[in-house]
Amino acid sequence: MKKGRVFSGARPTGQQHIGNYLGAIQNYVALQKDYDCIYCIVDIHALTTLEDTHLLQDSIRQMALDWLASGIDPMESIIFVQSHVPEITELFTYLGMVTPMGWLTRVPTFKEKVRMHPDNVNYGLLGYPVLMAADIVLYKADTVPVGEDQLPHLELTREIVRRFNSIFGDVFPEPDAKLTEIPLIIGLDGVNKMSKSLDNQIDLAISDEETIKRVSTAYTDPTRIRKSDPGHPDTCNVYTLHGAFTRVVVPDKYAPIAEACKKAEIGCVACKRLLAESINDYLRPFRTRRAEIDATPGYVEEVLADGARRASAIAKETLAEVKEKMGLV
Ligand code: SF4
Repeated sequence: MKKGRVFSGARPTGQQHIGNYLGAIQNYVALQKDYDCIYCIVDIHALTTLEDTHLLQDSIRQMALDWLASGIDPMESIIFVQSHVPEITELFTYLGMVTPMGWLTRVPTFKEKVRMHPDNVNYGLLGYPVLMAADIVLYKADTVPVGEDQLPHLELTREIVRRFNSIFGDVFPEPDAKLTEIPLIIGLDGVNKMSKSLDNQIDLAISDEETIKRVSTAYTDPTRIRKSDPGHPDTCNVYTLHGAFTRVVVPDKYAPIAEACKKAEIGCVACKRLLAESINDYLRPFRTRRAEIDATPGYVEEVLADGARRASAIAKETLAEVKEKMGLV
């Protein structure tokens, strides 16, 4: 007996990187054991800021491939694309009727996006949190995995649910946050969060050689000018990444690397080479699985179609209930 129903959505950003994996995908895989999970690639959300959509379909496929190869099991969980269940846009409209404007204009991410995209402040951007609420409640999810910084968004969903239920009667469960410690993975620039837009990422599905090349560009301890200078692994992002990979694949090597760095017995080039080897060893089973799935014609498309069918069955039931309560039938 599972503990409840989890919903989580992510924008289609194409090939996933190790920051996505350590920050979210790994957790998605683990949650399947205890919860009925619904994982959604939220393509409609992507339209709020996306100007060029010609890569959208490939981004969706690449992301689904990475999810599947990482261990999200389509027999266990529902994996689908948001727009493949059109009921979402209908519920979005209905929830919009109970959401006061003031709740939306005060959302910090709205203000931030207005700053970032001053020429494209569209209605969808303002309604983003309502669509997010609709995503969760259409499937009557009771549990949403979130990091601490996303708690205000979930609280807004809970407010919308409370308001809807108080006006029309109980339909939706108030979703609870499953607080997840999301590790902040810093990119190859050693400063910013790992992100494709900053080109500081290591994608999961690249080759061993490409991984070595990418890792060789990583910023290290800036106080270490020469190889003979003692280093500071505690403040070096390369060593932090060793913690995520070397510690897992060759645990005996992890602490000695720090010691060797502090005593200037290892240079940064060799240290980064070891990190690349650890990442490659760690990701080898993933990369093999991904290549197999990719080479199976129609597999990803079938998984997403089946996910949409299963999600749609839940969505139709919820929407029928909503319309009845709202007096639309
Ligand atoms: Fe960082 Fe490794 Fe260089 Fe030490 S040896 S500063 S841990 S890259």
